[in-house]
Amino acid sequence: MKETPVSRMRIQQARMLCLMGARAVTIAAATGIRPTDARAIYKEIHGTVSPPGQTPHSLEWYLERPARRLQASLLLKLYFLCIQSGYSTQQAFIAAYDVYWNIYGAADTSKRQQSERLIDPERGFYLVKRAGSFGALSAPGVGEAIAALPCRSCGLEILSPAHEAAFVCPQCASGFQNPGHRLRA
Ligand SMILES: [Zn+2]
Repeated sequence: MKETPVSRMRIQQARMLCLMGARAVTIAAATGIRPTDARAIYKEIHGTVSPPGQTPHSLEWYLERPARRLQASLLLKLYFLCIQSGYSTQQAFIAAYDVYWNIYGAADTSKRQQSERLIDPERGFYLVKRAGSFGALSAPGVGEAIAALPCRSCGLEILSPAHEAAFVCPQCASGFQNPGHRLRA
């Protein structure tokens, strides 16, 4: 491949995503490098060919568990902050995912005090790809839109069904059921 500052940066970002667990198909889509180059990078880093298989195709997964929902919301928020700062969608994803990755710690499972990172680069890339410019995500599988809505109690923006008018996030909702717990928070 021809070396330019942009191509060097893309290759560097491709390597970063590969080390974070992305397969060649996602590396190519997220960085804009050619699929053959993405496969070569995967092989070089992992010593095996990039595994085939589907990339994520449903938004329901992100809502299934409160922790996933929270982490997806954070990643989306970071992504939109990058977009607002003038990043391209590609660069916004890479910057946002890098921050998300570091917030949830290195891939060292022996450190039990660290929160578990639940969204791999492929899930992350799918989420931002579906996000569009306004933050409302249409989910054909669910038959309704989901969006990052502000919790009316704490103000945190959490991924939710877009029709929920008076939205309360799962964390605050559990506090409402247990007021003593909430007062100590
Ligand atoms: Zn809340």
